[in-house]
Amino acid sequence: MKVDILIVGAGFAGCTLAERVATELNKKVLLVEKRNHIAGNSYDYYNEEGILVQKYGPHIFHTNLQNVWDYLSRFTKWNGYVHRVIASVNGKEVYFPINLSTMEVLYNRKFTSETLEAYFQQQRVKLDEIRNSRDVVVSQIGEELYELFIKNYTKKQWGVYPDELDPQVTKRIPVRFNRDTRYFADTYQGIPMYGFTRMFESMIDNKNIHILLNTDYKEVVTSVKFDKLIYTGPIDYYFDYMHGKLEYRSLDFKFETLNMEKYQNAAVVNFPNDFDYTRITEFKQLYLQRHNKTTICYEFPKAEGDPYYPIPRHECREKYQKYKAEADKLNSVYFIGRLAQYKYLNMDQVVDEALNLFKTIT
Ligand code: FAD
Ligand code: UDP
Repeated sequence: MKVDILIVGAGFAGCTLAERVATELNKKVLLVEKRNHIAGNSYDYYNEEGILVQKYGPHIFHTNLQNVWDYLSRFTKWNGYVHRVIASVNGKEVYFPINLSTMEVLYNRKFTSETLEAYFQQQRVKLDEIRNSRDVVVSQIGEELYELFIKNYTKKQWGVYPDELDPQVTKRIPVRFNRDTRYFADTYQGIPMYGFTRMFESMIDNKNIHILLNTDYKEVVTSVKFDKLIYTGPIDYYFDYMHGKLEYRSLDFKFETLNMEKYQNAAVVNFPNDFDYTRITEFKQLYLQRHNKTTICYEFPKAEGDPYYPIPRHECREKYQKYKAEADKLNSVYFIGRLAQYKYLNMDQVVDEALNLFKTIT
């Protein structure tokens, strides 16, 4: 078989590039995916009860990048969902990230932006340098709130305490001095109207794209002729682990369908300090679906298993740099996406990187 471009992985990175190359350059693409479905980690499907669920945990699209939003909007409408997360702490349910309303419920008193600023001024730990994810938080809101919301959640999620993680992990979480209870403040947010998988189907519905599911690319790479290879899988696997295995954080997902219309007060509820799971997602609230039953999903973080999160730590990045140096030696092979770049990227960042990479491909 001869194609112009072989693309490994049918997630955001792979499908964006497949679509661009097939549509704009009119080139033939073979898209190889080892799972039995497209859409990568944002894959969603109707379960046996007819409830639309996400196989790999809650994915909410959000971006400030107009070009990315416009690009994806060619393939889907959006359902207008605005993400709000509740944290269950000290027996109370409060909105997270921390904002005025969180503090009022937690401490049972009124706050204004000014009094909250003054409160944090008292609480915050003064540091000369922000070296890790603990420093990020205690230097903004102090030890007490760090202990309540961040320390134990992070230990569950990453297997280590925040002081062993790069600042970027907890920098993802803002602190707000207003009453904005949204999880993301981005201009554009939502879920594809008919689900992520339908959006991906529409992206790759092109006669120039041939898809091979259930196939590890190593099974076919020697029998397919191609000019260029775009790789979106784990970079260490590509190089047969020549510099040792990179660490990834994995998750177990436990689904339950319940005989009730609504289970919890937000689509996602976080449990920083209780239980082995980090959070529970109720999918109907993401998809704004009506149904007399509801499906929820618990997330149990673990070290082994499918690679979901590259670990933002110095040692891991150093090992990755060795693989990156190998990758840079290759011609006509491109490494892109969360696993191939070993980078904690959101979906919109992956699409943006893919659109930028496309500009360099002829
Ligand atoms: P992936 O989606 O992982 O796609 C890579 C594909 O390559 C996979 O389908 C894989 O099976 C395939 N593959 C790997 N190796 C091979 C091989 N050897 N041969 C063939 N195929 C192979 N981002 C957000 O913006 N918002 C969110 O709310 C959000 N929530 C998240 C929640 C969870 C639990 C997780 C884990 C991630 C979340 N993300 C979220 C991040 C999001 O999942 C990623 O940004 C996105 O999936 C990255 O796309 P990708 O194409 O790089 O990788
Ligand atoms: N986090 C936390 N408590 C929470 C939510 C998040 O400590 O209630 C920390 C945790 O370390 C997490 C990080 O903040 O990994 C980033 O959170 P985000 O929701 O962005 O994680 P993701 O979407 O990647 O699961």
